[in-house]
Amino acid sequence: MQTLLARLEKGGIGPKAMRKVVQDLAYAAVEAHDRIDAHQQEQISSWKARAGIGRRPARAERATRSKRKPPLHEKVGRDRWFKKPCPRCHAAKDKECINDDKIGGGSLRQTLHDERLQSAPPLLWAEPVGGPEE
Ligand SMILES: [Zn+2]
Repeated sequence: MQTLLARLEKGGIGPKAMRKVVQDLAYAAVEAHDRIDAHQQEQISSWKARAGIGRRPARAERATRSKRKPPLHEKVGRDRWFKKPCPRCHAAKDKECINDDKIGGGSLRQTLHDERLQSAPPLLWAEPVGGPEE
């Protein structure tokens, strides 16, 4: 591990090679976790930050987001589930769900509970959101 740190500190290696060394260093640090002092730990953390290890690259994050499944509340037409009370928070029909899990601010949820959305008639799920207003 000292060798790896020394190599990083000497500099003169490209970003790709540096990343590799930092990665090795991170693994070595995990193995030697009880023999590392605070100063070494600090060095390792700062090298990891410099090499961008430990945080997900923005590009990968975006890809994950675009691949995600649309949430239920986007799939189920709003007017459908409003006709039923919520099985979870017992919000009455035509009422928004109660914000019991503190998603967003306010006392009412911005989206309804999945339980309520799932209680919508399955046949209607295939309908596009924002269909004709009734
Ligand atoms: Zn609810």
